[in-house]
Amino acid sequence: MGRAGSAVKLPERRDAAPPGYESLDGEVPFLYAPRLEDEAGEVRDYLAEGYTTLAGILSVEPPEIVALLVAGEDWRDAPRDNARPYPPGLPYFTRSTSPPTLVLPEELSPVFRPRTNATMPLAVWHELAHAFLLSREVVRTPAWLGELVPQAASAAVARNIGLSLKDHLSRIDGQPGFTVRGFRGPVEAEDQMSFQNLLLLLGVAALERFGEDFLRHLFYDLWREDDVVDEERARALLAEALGPGGQEWLASRPEF
Ligand SMILES: [Zn+2]
Repeated sequence: MGRAGSAVKLPERRDAAPPGYESLDGEVPFLYAPRLEDEAGEVRDYLAEGYTTLAGILSVEPPEIVALLVAGEDWRDAPRDNARPYPPGLPYFTRSTSPPTLVLPEELSPVFRPRTNATMPLAVWHELAHAFLLSREVVRTPAWLGELVPQAASAAVARNIGLSLKDHLSRIDGQPGFTVRGFRGPVEAEDQMSFQNLLLLLGVAALERFGEDFLRHLFYDLWREDDVVDEERARALLAEALGPGGQEWLASRPEF
């Protein structure tokens, strides 16, 4: 926020939405393709719940963002960081607009597995958690830590609002043939999904064992780091954030 009378120059605002999109007011302004009115109401509710809940779990002022529900035919016109359009059906968060935009597809890619009533809300909260984390500068981390944070955060939102993940979790293969730390990209989209699902299992187990406070610790730890977080540092950060017994617990986890 600029002080009164100061000459703070705001970044030029680029349009988040393709032409003709409708908007819904709210804590997170929501833009959507006119033909997606029904979907927009549902997704906007997930977003609003996640936004307030995450701010509470993390004890932070939520970041200023907008959300965009994009029709398939407009996918190429959605804002993004790179020139080339991203694969269809994959939600993402981009800081190429001001304020940044959470871009959501009208339909999730078939790669998203398992398909339950939790699939869409978890995907929305995952991207929302990225938005919270990226509201401050964050250094590079190993992929497993960078993605464990939003996976555990999305599970924490579900817990808070009483969305049961039992059915969803029971459909995940907990032994995909690699551990989250042994996973190496780039790989097939299916393997990427197995990696994310393994992180979800680990995140849920951590929430059950240690409660949700470790998330707040982890966010603040990552905001404090000013050098690239290597494998060893990442393990130490997570173990510390979990609290007493964290290190032993991690060593005992098959996903880890
Ligand atoms: Zn992610």
